[in-house]
Formats: sequence, structure tokens, C-alpha cells
Amino acid sequence: MNFRYKLIQFMSGRYGSDNLNFALLILAAAVSVVNIFIRSLILQFVVYALIIYAFYRMLSRNIEARRRENRWFNDKVNFVKKRSELYNQRKNDKFHVYKKCPACKAILRLPHRIGTHTTVCPRCGQEFKVKVKK
Ligand SMILES: [Zn+2]
Repeated sequence: MNFRYKLIQFMSGRYGSDNLNFALLILAAAVSVVNIFIRSLILQFVVYALIIYAFYRMLSRNIEARRRENRWFNDKVNFVKKRSELYNQRKNDKFHVYKKCPACKAILRLPHRIGTHTTVCPRCGQEFKVKVKK
């Protein structure tokens, strides 16, 4: 009986790896590199905890719970990705400025005109001043 077969047998019915596990191990590696310089005992424990958690997930037989965790993680990653896309889109928009309404926190897209202007929020009707530099 070879090692490969034993491994397959051992892993059958277990969860295996996913995006969250990959991220946990990358994070553990990153913290471990940082800890080369800091040499903190707490960070060392964090590294061990991350690795143990990743292995626990990999070997877990509760597949549904692990899927749920991974789904939660993927949702968070997608949220951050969408946010950064939106941020880049706004940053590259030369014809508009994006300002937050001080009353209702809505983001308003306004024409890019240099100076101080007064604008009215279309959502809540609040009037406020907008400063546009360069
Ligand atoms: Zn408003």
C-alpha cells in the first residue's frame, strides 16, 4: 500500500482545502515573516493558531459547516473587491467629484467644477457646501 493511497483514504469524507484555508495559511506565513523582526511570543501563538485552525478545517468531517465558513469568507472578499473597484472608478472619473451628504450619508456624484458650491441632496433635501480643489 503506497502513501498516496493511504492519504486518499485518510482524506475521504473530510473537507479538504478551500479559499479560506489558503488565506489562513498565507496570513500565517505573513505574520510569521513579520515576527522574524518583531519576535513576539503572542504573534508566534497567532501563527500556530492560524495553522492549527487551517488543519482543523481541512480534516473536518463537518463539511456543511466548513462550506458555510468559506461562503462567508468569499462574501467578505467580494465585498472588499467591489468596494475597491468602485473606489478606483471614482478616482479615475475626471468629470465628476463624489461627495458624501452630511445629513443622510448618501454619495452624490457632482460635476467637477473648481470652487465652492452649494448643492442640494436629492435624497434628503439637505443643502450643503461642496469645495472642489484642482
Ligand atoms: Zn442627503
